[in-house]
Amino acid sequence: MNKTEFSSLGLSAPLLSNLDGLGYHQMTPIQARALPVILSGGDLIAQAKTGSGKTAAFGLGLLSRINPRWFAVQALVLCPTRELADQVAREIRRLARAIDNIKVVTLTGGTPMGPQIGSLSHGAHIVVGTPGRLHDHLFRETLDLSKVETLVLDEADRMVDMGFYEEITGIVDACAKKRQTLLFSATYPDNIRKLAARFLKNPEQIRLESLN
Ligand code: ADP
Ligand code: MG
Repeated sequence: MNKTEFSSLGLSAPLLSNLDGLGYHQMTPIQARALPVILSGGDLIAQAKTGSGKTAAFGLGLLSRINPRWFAVQALVLCPTRELADQVAREIRRLARAIDNIKVVTLTGGTPMGPQIGSLSHGAHIVVGTPGRLHDHLFRETLDLSKVETLVLDEADRMVDMGFYEEITGIVDACAKKRQTLLFSATYPDNIRKLAARFLKNPEQIRLESLN
């Protein structure tokens, strides 16, 4: 079987036919490298440039583990900005059309807490958010991350550059200890290395040549 076909991955039939409907016929290089690791449940550090299809790589991973009948936050995606969080949530919702009743909630700053707390109280399976606002929800005890099985740090270098190191560590510490952690970063400086050493377990490391 062709190694760049999504059908080589053992994804569910609904996820596969939805991908076809989205026009995703072949995996991008980062998806072909990362998805086998992600679907096996291992931790991952991935370096790849913008526009390479990282969202679907982690999105398909977390969606293949979600139990829609369990009303708990089972996956958390941390993004540097509100715009990126909105984009990621939109892509995950598109991928999730294949599965009934998956609720994705976006928690970012610049909007009132009240409606976000309301959305959470109706049951969220996946949360996508920015470190500042997630930290606020944890502080107010309006968000429970203790059932998170998949944690994604998207654009980790940008989040750290924006000064969110402390918030990130607080958020990760609030997640279940037994989980999968996926870290995406365009660069891999010392502070990201430190973050990875602290929070990832025996991560597989992928770096796409085209970055050089
Ligand atoms: P990144 O996070 O790596 O910058 P994105 O996840 O935002 O990239 O993806 C970039 C674009 O590529 C999006 O418009 C997305 O819909 C599209 N895309 C992702 N995977 C595929 C695929 N396998 N085939 C076709 N288009 C894809
Ligand atoms: Mg991205």
